[in-house]
Amino acid sequence: MKKPSDKQLGMHHTITRRDFVQGAAVAIGAAAQAGTLSLSQTATASASVSEVAQGAMPADYPPIKTGMRGSHSGAYEIAHALAREGAEFPKPEPIQEHYDLIVVGAGISGLAAAHYYQQQFGPDAKILLLENHDDFGGHAKRNEFHQSGDMVLSLGGTHNLEWWSFSDNVEAFMAAHGVDPELMRKQMDFAYGRDAPNSPAMWFDQETYGVSRLVTNFNLSAKLTSDDIDKIPISDAGRASLNRFYGSAPHLEDWTEAEAEDTLSSISYPDFLRQYGGLTEDAVQLFNKEEHGSWGLEMRALSAAEAIWEGYPGAHLFGEGWSEDSFGYPVAMWPDGNASLARLMVAKLMPHSAPDVTADNVAIARFDYSALDQKGADVRLRLNSTVIGVENTDEGVSVTYASPSGALKKVSARHSVLACYHSIIPHLCPAMADTQKAALKYQVKFPMILTNVLLRNSEALDKLGVDAVACPGRLHARLFLFKGLHTGGYERPDSVEEAVSLVFWGSISPPENAIDLRSQLRGSRQKLLDLSFEDFEREVRTVLDGLLGPAGFEVSEDILAITVNRWPHGYSYEYMQLWDPEWAPGEAPHEIGRQRFGSIVIANADAGASAYTHVAIDQAHRAVADLLDDT
Ligand SMILES: Cc1cc2nc3c(=O)[nH]c(=O)nc-3n(C[C@H](O)[C@H](O)[C@H](O)COP(=O)(O)OP(=O)(O)OC[C@H]3O[C@@H](n4cnc5c(N)ncnc54)[C@H](O)[C@@H]3O)c2cc1C
Repeated sequence: MKKPSDKQLGMHHTITRRDFVQGAAVAIGAAAQAGTLSLSQTATASASVSEVAQGAMPADYPPIKTGMRGSHSGAYEIAHALAREGAEFPKPEPIQEHYDLIVVGAGISGLAAAHYYQQQFGPDAKILLLENHDDFGGHAKRNEFHQSGDMVLSLGGTHNLEWWSFSDNVEAFMAAHGVDPELMRKQMDFAYGRDAPNSPAMWFDQETYGVSRLVTNFNLSAKLTSDDIDKIPISDAGRASLNRFYGSAPHLEDWTEAEAEDTLSSISYPDFLRQYGGLTEDAVQLFNKEEHGSWGLEMRALSAAEAIWEGYPGAHLFGEGWSEDSFGYPVAMWPDGNASLARLMVAKLMPHSAPDVTADNVAIARFDYSALDQKGADVRLRLNSTVIGVENTDEGVSVTYASPSGALKKVSARHSVLACYHSIIPHLCPAMADTQKAALKYQVKFPMILTNVLLRNSEALDKLGVDAVACPGRLHARLFLFKGLHTGGYERPDSVEEAVSLVFWGSISPPENAIDLRSQLRGSRQKLLDLSFEDFEREVRTVLDGLLGPAGFEVSEDILAITVNRWPHGYSYEYMQLWDPEWAPGEAPHEIGRQRFGSIVIANADAGASAYTHVAIDQAHRAVADLLDDT
């Protein structure tokens, strides 16, 4: 079968505008409005975004921007010039503003640090948050779509609250912001695509597998039958190896516990499948991208123990039973992911930017971005501002940043919390000791992508009976329908005729020749940065044409908008069995890296070496508590 042309995929409509969005225009408010328009021409039957924007919607409202988002153009270039090229910057303008606290990074951790600073140093403390993106929340971003006439929300990064291990601090923090995860769970009718009659499913695409085939009620983690395996379009030898593996009697039962632990923690899962499962190469490859979402890694980065613990097959070789996927996992979720939590924090810190916002209406509230950096307010949040230097001084700290106009400015404060990525900190604080700098640089974040595609309706998916599909041969390893969230005051009719966001989710496969984990992560990051919005759009259109076309989806008509959220610096680095030693208590890089440095303390989820929202909050709490002696 011939690959569909760009014209058949509907790529021909909006090239000029799309290119415009991709460039520096995104960073500029008015031009970003054009970004919102980029795909609305395909929305022939619905209200166009221009109508919405001309009404109540401010032209530069960040959540409505489509095109390339996440780490968008204009947000990271200065930081890259500093960290990658060692750029020297001109002298900043003289200090004109002084604060009690300057926070670098307005993600969950930076916002939480402002909250804890107010608790510790008093509610009148003067706080400035500096953030390099055009929106607050860090990874916790929201995507708003108005192309279908009313607002459709989707997540732009951080998905949910996973709260089985909340500390007392985090429990108190949630309560202080009116968040009740138990209640939210009751308001959710969403289970990551486990609801439709034929889900889960796997789609084998023509380009990779030579045939386009959707295999339904299919999940590599479950015990596959020979009927399931017969449908997998790989070699006969590959299918035979899968049959032997899934049907295998236990043959590793006589391993001692120590033997099993040593072997499984020192071999990658793909090597385990090859050596102990007897799988052929094409069968092993089915698993490669399975953990692009949850772990943000290619399967070869995981040890066999980590993968089996995650539920992938292998335990049966040791005589253990197959576990059922019951989704008992306790997550609570807003319709914009954890962006609503960031919004609750901003509403509490800067009530003038979002009066009357509560946990009951946070998802549907409109924030006044022009009030975030209001002169005279106790707390100010300055967007589009990249910090390039933080220095201890006799009075506290001075912080240099590139302002939205491009001018370099210097501000001072008694304290600073660095809630940004740890790998940039050595470049911000060159006077720091080399051991601390080396520890901070140990953090190499995992690249992630989350591409939201606004579909005119979900009729084709409904016809196929699926709401989530794994795509082992494609750029995004998985997609799921995002609906059924009734939290934060958001309601949408539960009808297949309604516009809905389809989330394409995952990471980017590292180059084959990248062996160690850091090379894999850096290689994936570069690949991600090299992809243009057009590459993503073509990919998404190709997948939807191949997967849903047979069920009546018109690829050139039924896509209303696309927002790519790319996160070259995604999940915080977590220690992995294959790549990291067991550190003695207090000697792990994150523990050395996060130590107080003069009047500077260090937060961010990186400080907990664990990519979770509750960790970002706990680390903000610890960082501010590091200043206790100064109260
Ligand atoms: C796609 C994705 C999905 C995720 N899903 C989940 C989930 O479901 N549940 C969960 O618990 N966690 C999830 N996470 C992990 C997420 O990282 C944390 O939950 C949390 O949001 C981290 O917050 P943070 O404030 O520590 O870091 P960040 O969100 O990274 O915030 C740091 C901020 O500092 C800014 N910054 C960096 N350098 C500078 C500078 N020089 N000047 C100014 N600003 C700077 C950054 O741009 C960023 O905005 C996800 C992460 C990603 C990427």
